[in-house]
Amino acid sequence: MGDPYRRDAMGRRVPSYLKEVFVGRVKMLDWCRRLDRMKVQLAALQMHEAALHLDTTTAMKQLDAARRTVEDGMPFTTCTCQARQTDCEHCKGRRWVTRQRMPGRLGEVVA
Ligand SMILES: [Zn+2]
Repeated sequence: MGDPYRRDAMGRRVPSYLKEVFVGRVKMLDWCRRLDRMKVQLAALQMHEAALHLDTTTAMKQLDAARRTVEDGMPFTTCTCQARQTDCEHCKGRRWVTRQRMPGRLGEVVA
């Protein structure tokens, strides 16, 4: 297993020059997990007397939207373009892409 940032969401080995980017991906995944725990806490609060006027459904949708936004923006995989291709339409020469910018078909997130 090792350090989780060493593999991207496709299971590809992350090159050392992209280490910090994929360390950031792990931090974003951790943030998403914390947000999931917050949703569980909110669901529990819903039963409390103090939540009588709390629109939990809307708050849950907003939390889901925040999670999706973070997931959409997080590093997903290394780009398949050539090393010096600074005009790559997917990665713009950064050598990593989000799930939306991935060349070819969409992959599955490995959490
Ligand atoms: Zn590229």
